Amino acid sequence: MKISDIFERTERTFSFEFFPPKDEISAIDFGVNVGQLMKLSPSFVSVTYGAGGSNSERMFALVDYLQNKTGLTVMAHYTCVGASKSRVLEDIKYLKSKNIDNLMLLRGDPPKGTVDFVPHPDGFYHASELIEKVATEFKNTFTVGAGCYPEKHPEAETFEQDIMYLKEKTDAGVDFLITQLFFDNDIYFNFVKMLRKAGIYCRVIPGIIPITSYSQIDRFSRLSGTKIPDTLMDKLESAKDNPKRIIRTGIDYAIEQCKSLLAGGAPGIHFYTLNKQSAIVEIFEALK
Ligand SMILES: Cc1cc2nc3c(=O)[nH]c(=O)nc-3n(C[C@H](O)[C@H](O)[C@H](O)COP(=O)(O)OP(=O)(O)OC[C@H]3O[C@@H](n4cnc5c(N)ncnc54)[C@H](O)[C@@H]3O)c2cc1C
Repeated sequence: MKISDIFERTERTFSFEFFPPKDEISAIDFGVNVGQLMKLSPSFVSVTYGAGGSNSERMFALVDYLQNKTGLTVMAHYTCVGASKSRVLEDIKYLKSKNIDNLMLLRGDPPKGTVDFVPHPDGFYHASELIEKVATEFKNTFTVGAGCYPEKHPEAETFEQDIMYLKEKTDAGVDFLITQLFFDNDIYFNFVKMLRKAGIYCRVIPGIIPITSYSQIDRFSRLSGTKIPDTLMDKLESAKDNPKRIIRTGIDYAIEQCKSLLAGGAPGIHFYTLNKQSAIVEIFEALK
C-alpha cells in the first residue's frame, strides 16, 4: 500500500525504522523484536540502506520479506552513494518488482574516513536529483519520503540555504518528510513554521529515538549535531552510573516528548527503533 493512501485516511501515522541485521544472531534478535513491534500495527515500517550501499543485498531481501510475507506496509530507504544513474534505476526497478510502493530517497553520507560527499562520476550529487529522476522515470509508482533537519544539515552553511535546498527537493517529487532525530520540541515546531513560510506544505513527521544508554548521548550529538535540553542532560548525568535509570529517564522523556509533539499538531511519530522493541513498545502504549 502507498503511504499517500494511508495519509488520505488518517491524520497521524506511527511508524518504525529498522536496519538490516548484520549476522545470524542479529537476525534472530530482529525477528523477536520486530514480532513484538508488529503487534502494535504500525502505519508503516521502513528499512535503512547501509552507507555506500554496503548492505544492499540484505536490505533488498529484508524489504522483500517484510513487504510480501508479513502484511506490513514497507518503505525502502535508498541512497545514491557510489551508484551510477543506471545502477540506481536498476535498483529501483528491482524494488518495484518486489511490490515496494514507498521509497525514502536520500543522498547518503560520505563514506567513513572521508569528509566531502563525492558522487559517482555518472551519479547524483544531491537527493533532489535522485528524487527528480525517480519521479520522471517512474511517474506515480511510489510515495516518496525524504529526510529533513530541524537543527540544520551538518554540511549546510546556513539554515536558510538548507531550507532553500529542501524546497528544491520537495518540489522535485517528495510526498512527505521525516526529520532527523531531535530532543527539543520547540526546535521542531519552529522548523515546521519555517518550512511553511518557505512554501513546503507536506507532512513533516518527527523522527524520535529514546536514549537508552549514556554512550548514545555523545554519538547522537556527533552524528546529527542535535542538542540535548539541559533538563534531560541533568537527569542523564545524575543517572550516569546506573544503566537502568538511564533507560527509565530516556523512556520517560520520550513519552513526554511524543505526547507534546502530538498535542502540538505533529502528524504522527517515526520511531528510530535501532531494532529494539522494549522501549518503543512502552512509549507506544503510553501514547494510546
Ligand atoms: C529520515 C532519515 C532517514 C535516513 N536514512 C538513511 C539511510 O537509510 N541510509 C543512509 O546512509 N543515510 C540515511 N540518512 C542520512 C542521510 O543520508 C544524510 O543525512 C546525508 O548526509 C544527507 O542526505 P539527504 O538526502 O538529506 O541529502 P540532500 O538533501 O542532498 O542534502 C545534503 C546536503 O546538501 C545540501 N544541498 C542539497 N541540495 C543542494 C544543492 N542543489 N546545491 C548545494 N547544496 C545542496 C543540503 O543543504 C545538505 O547540506 C537518513 C536521514 C534521515 C533524516
